Amino acid sequence: MILRPANYYFLVTAMQIKTGKRIELIDITDKIRKEISDSGIENGICVISTKHTTTSIIVNENEAGLVSDILNLLEKLVPAYAGYGHDRIDNNADSHLKAVLLGISETIPLADGKLLLGTWQSIFLAELDGPRTREVKVTLISGK
Ligand code: ZN
Repeated sequence: MILRPANYYFLVTAMQIKTGKRIELIDITDKIRKEISDSGIENGICVISTKHTTTSIIVNENEAGLVSDILNLLEKLVPAYAGYGHDRIDNNADSHLKAVLLGISETIPLADGKLLLGTWQSIFLAELDGPRTREVKVTLISGK
């Protein structure tokens, strides 16, 4: 079945997030839930995405030790200033490479107004070249 525009809602909202470090994970789950609640959409698909080349969106557990483990893993996999080609332009190749590993979006089902996340799952903006003000998009797609 092909849905025509009149048969579904497609809503995109944007939020600004101020980051405070060069590399950090910021839990944005509550902000995403607020966007969904404000939209009035209860069932469908929620896509959380970032338009930057040095940020990512990931889902995992917001536990301080694990957050630190994730950041340490990224640093081990892609150490900063390790002679990358892009560093000759703006010295942030490691930030781009970390973003490539993590990806720019997560897609989560929405049912009865609730994101279908597990108890221990949180949505994070991964800042990989901060501090800056970043934009996160929330796209909701739902049938009428
Ligand atoms: Zn760059």
